[in-house]
This record gives sequence, C-alpha cells and structure tokens, in this order.
Amino acid sequence: MKNFNPADNIQDLQYFGEFGGVNPSISDSSTYTFLSAKTMFDTFEGNMEGCYLYSRHSSPSNLYLDKALAAMEGTESANVSASGMGAITPTLLQLCGTGDHIVSSRTIYGGTYAFLKNFTPRLGIKTSFVDITKLDVVEAAITPDTKVLYCETVSNPLLEVADIEGLAKIAKRHNLTLVVDNTFSPLSVSPARLGADIVIHSLTKYINGSSDTVGGVTCASQEFIDSLKNVNSGASMLLGPTMDSLRSASVMKNLRTLHIRMKQHSHNAMYLAQRFEKDGLKTVYPGLESHPSHKIYKTMINPEYGFGGMMTLDVGTLAKANELMELMQAKNLGYLAVSLGFYKTLFSAPGTSTSSEIPMEEQIEMGLTDGLIRFSIGLDNDIERTYQMMKACMMELEILKSESILMV
Ligand SMILES: *Cc1c(COP(=O)(O)O)cnc(C)c1O
Repeated sequence: MKNFNPADNIQDLQYFGEFGGVNPSISDSSTYTFLSAKTMFDTFEGNMEGCYLYSRHSSPSNLYLDKALAAMEGTESANVSASGMGAITPTLLQLCGTGDHIVSSRTIYGGTYAFLKNFTPRLGIKTSFVDITKLDVVEAAITPDTKVLYCETVSNPLLEVADIEGLAKIAKRHNLTLVVDNTFSPLSVSPARLGADIVIHSLTKYINGSSDTVGGVTCASQEFIDSLKNVNSGASMLLGPTMDSLRSASVMKNLRTLHIRMKQHSHNAMYLAQRFEKDGLKTVYPGLESHPSHKIYKTMINPEYGFGGMMTLDVGTLAKANELMELMQAKNLGYLAVSLGFYKTLFSAPGTSTSSEIPMEEQIEMGLTDGLIRFSIGLDNDIERTYQMMKACMMELEILKSESILMV
C-alpha cells in the first residue's frame, strides 16, 4: 500500500481541452469519421488505438473518466456505464454463462441481489449467497462450476466488511475472478491493491456526489475491459448501458473534489457514531471499536480518508424509525431518501426500501432489523450542532431518555 494514494493518482492526470481549456472538451458526437476505409475496418476489429468508432463503444469524454477511475483504483483500465447496475450486470454476464456458478455475499445491494437471485437463473447461472465475513463458509460454497466470487467492500446496508485479501487468496486458489463493489468506500479502500481482480462502483453515490445522475464503472485489466467492449462478444457493447458524454464530463468534474468530501463524510460519521453509541443507541459504524470488523477494516483502509460516511442506528421498531426520519426531515437535518453520498444527510429504513428485494426471513437471518435506519452522513459544517439537533429529535420521540443523556 506504500506510495499508492488514489487521490494523488487522479490529481496527477493532466487533461486539456482542444483550445487549451483546463477541462477537456466534451465530445458531442455519436459517430466518428475515418480518413481511410482501412482504418475503419481495423477499428471494428479492435486493432486501432486512439480511434473512435461509435459512442456506444466509447467516446473521448468517457475515456477521460475511465482513465481517472482506473488511476484511482490502480487498475490498467476501466469502462464507465450509465448506472451502477449497468456496470455490474455486463461484468457478471461477461464472466459467466449457462452452467456457471457464483459465490456471493448475502448482504449486497438489493438490485444486485435481485439480479443474481431472480434474473441470472433464467440464463442458467446459479448463485450461492453466503456470509462473506466467514472465509471457511465462502470456500466451502465453491463448486467445480464456480467462476466468480462477488462481494461489496462494505456491505449494504449492514456495513459488514469483506476481508478482500483473504478472499483474493481463496479466489486465486480456485481460479475464480474476485469482483468487488467498492461503492461505499471510494478512496478509503483500494480493493485491486488488496487482490481484487475487478472493482465496480456505482458513480451515483460518493464519486459523483451530487445526486443528479446515475452512473457506474468497471475497473479491471485492459484485457477484461477490451472483452467487455468487444463489438462481437462484449456484454457492455452489446447490452448498451453506455454513459452519455455530457454526463461523464460532469461526473469527472465532481470526481476532483472526492478526496475532500470523503474526509468530511468520514469525520462527520465518526463523530455522530461515537456520540450515539455513548448515548446507548445500537450504532453500527466500521470506525467504532465495537464493530466486529473494525480491526481488519483498519488494516484495509487508506487512513486519511477514514471509515466512510455510512452508519446505521437501530431505534427499536419500524414505527419509531419512521417517526424519527420524518421529524429529522422536518427539522431539515437531512432527507428521507434512498441513495448515499450527497452533501445532505440521507436516511432510510433499508428493510422496507433498498433491501426490500430480500425476503423477510432472510432479512432477519442476516440481522436486518425493523428499527434499523441507514444514514449517509452529509457534509455538515458543524457536526456538533447536527448532533445536538438529532439528539433533540430522539428525545422528543423518547428514543433517547433524558437520564441517558445526563450521564454523558
Ligand atoms: C446504488 C448501488 C448500486 C447500483 O447503482 P445504480 O447507479 O443505482 O445502478 C450498486 N451497488 C451499491 C453498493 C449501491 O449502493
């Protein structure tokens, strides 16, 4: 991990617009001319570097963003897509076909879970869902048909941490591709540096950070990215989840402040997690020593970016959770909304929203309780003020009793 700083890697890239602009020009074309017919043929065959064919394949603006995200993750290459699911689904379909098997963490994003549980079986791809924190359980689920090991660095919504180095060893031993969704922990964790083969992000969340678009990226070897974009057999090329050039230019501009935002998200989340835990609330945050994976996570992170901005509080019942979220929204402490990585705090009850694809009995088994609220902590300037205001809401609803506050 020495001498690898993902934010410096992004900053060190130099792009100019065609008139010397400090931002690269935005490519505003779906198709591209060729000076010779031979060049067009070679480009179709994938033999031409630096030539553009058609914008579903790639565009100059998308390639700039690809390059920056590959630099961030320390992979050879990357391919941006129109959404996070638009990165996840082609990646998995490129790696697996009929008869193949995937071992996946059971605590993953609801859309990914639904894709693996309900959609890929139609194509003859089976998935075993396991507790990813138990490496022996993961290894025991591998069959001769297994091709992919799939997890999220920090899982949604329970904030379980995957031991990426341990999983990479298992993947190597069984000749599997380790695919890691790093959406919750950009900059904080660099999965490829820990042995992941492919790193995916939903750009919709922290990386774009302004909740104005969906977007995604697959970061991997040049060989894999070329296969995704292959005109004859590439899942990204053929399924067509292409990001628009105007949008990739705008995501790129937001990426440039990601390091500053991540530090503030992490600082604010740590502050609130420590205080609410002290107040006696059931608080899950990987930066707390009480978190089951705190020790291992500490060894995985690039420390200056902290433990991230995601935190959960369990307030007992769904009714209390709903009351609290409505009150906090009324006091302008944040918004009752799914998603994450916004400047404002966002909160939702995952059991009835982002994880509702997961059947109730499975939710219970994985510890996804009714009263759980998932917070994406915002960029609040004065987090002590936020804490006092949130605490006042909790006291008003008797989630926190006044004596527990007096003890603090
Ligand atoms: C939101 C999210 C996705 C899906 O991304 P979209 O941009 O909404 O398609 C995938 N994984 C994780 C962890 C997410 O939070």
